[in-house]
Amino acid sequence: MVNKRDYYEVLGLSRECTTEDIKREYRKLARKYHPDVNNGNPESEEKFKEISEAYAVLSNEEKRRQYDRHGFNGSLFDDFDFGSVFSEFGFGDIFDTFFGTGFGTSFSGRDRTRHMKKGSDINVNVEIDFKESAYGVKKEIEYKVDDICELCGGRGSASKDGIIICKECGGTGRVRISRQSFLGNIVTTTTCGTCGGSGEVIKDPCPKCGGKGYVYRKKKIKVDIPAGIQDGDKIRLPGKGNSAGRNSMNGDLYVTVKVKPHPGFKRSGNDIISNVDISFAQAALGCRVAVETLDGMEEIDIKPGTQPGEKIILKSMGMVELNGYRRGDHIININVKIPTKVSDDEINLLKKYASGRGEETGSGKSKAFSKIKDAFKK
Ligand SMILES: [Zn+2]
Ligand SMILES: [Zn+2]
Repeated sequence: MVNKRDYYEVLGLSRECTTEDIKREYRKLARKYHPDVNNGNPESEEKFKEISEAYAVLSNEEKRRQYDRHGFNGSLFDDFDFGSVFSEFGFGDIFDTFFGTGFGTSFSGRDRTRHMKKGSDINVNVEIDFKESAYGVKKEIEYKVDDICELCGGRGSASKDGIIICKECGGTGRVRISRQSFLGNIVTTTTCGTCGGSGEVIKDPCPKCGGKGYVYRKKKIKVDIPAGIQDGDKIRLPGKGNSAGRNSMNGDLYVTVKVKPHPGFKRSGNDIISNVDISFAQAALGCRVAVETLDGMEEIDIKPGTQPGEKIILKSMGMVELNGYRRGDHIININVKIPTKVSDDEINLLKKYASGRGEETGSGKSKAFSKIKDAFKK
């Protein structure tokens, strides 16, 4: 449970007070307890934090409602940018610096990580086959990364006690800068230049990384590529990116998946599209043909009288949906191929077939065309 004083009590207000009351009281108290006015007295610092937190919550209509209803429980501090609340007082960034790491973190660690130094992200590509995208695959990827130094374990110093507290900032990693505002002399803090914000100085740098805590090297990693992944999809591997040195969080690794085209299959959403060629006679009389599917060879029945461009749909034989189990369909387009070379016997058979149906055959001028032409001559 949270051991905090009631926000209204902190500001000395009743629960019925208006937003204007809150603003007025906060202004008054902030002047009184501002750390700079009190020469950095830790007690008034605490007090200042307390009233500022109370103000941050109560001056925000939605947060005040949440607080009135649930007190310190619930999601009071979720998605709350404290810094922005104070911008009108001229010390907006004070909460990102002076309070940043301690403010609101009794509820969650989110704020703490938000202010931690983070290494940069890395992007790599991986190419997989079409069928691998259908079934899912594990791929080993090699990439170059600023990786935690193995020799010092990321500490940066050769020995365990080779790290001393920075004299410039006293180990806080931040130094104060004063400036004028209507509240008087306002102190904001900034990253300490001597220690780069770590609060520590290395006396005996690690010989391998020179004190940085990381080394640039090749690294191999196995990536699970899930079934159903599409060309161009990215997989995020948190913490597998670059290190930013001591006391930092690693960046992330983004793996962009390139799916090689398949000679027979095309993907449309989660459906698979392929083509099958049949002859004119097979289309007319019907037949059974073998087709390649994601589940292996499959025999399909073509019904008599099938027309060019007709489709056969194999239900739930397409791609599996990403991170799901449902499958799309496999759509087979039927191409009716007309023979380009025929033997004399075949010609006779086809002519017989055509004349039986009263159809004219043969290239050049047709009899019907000649008749029309003759008619015009007259
Ligand atoms: Zn320092
Ligand atoms: Zn090292």
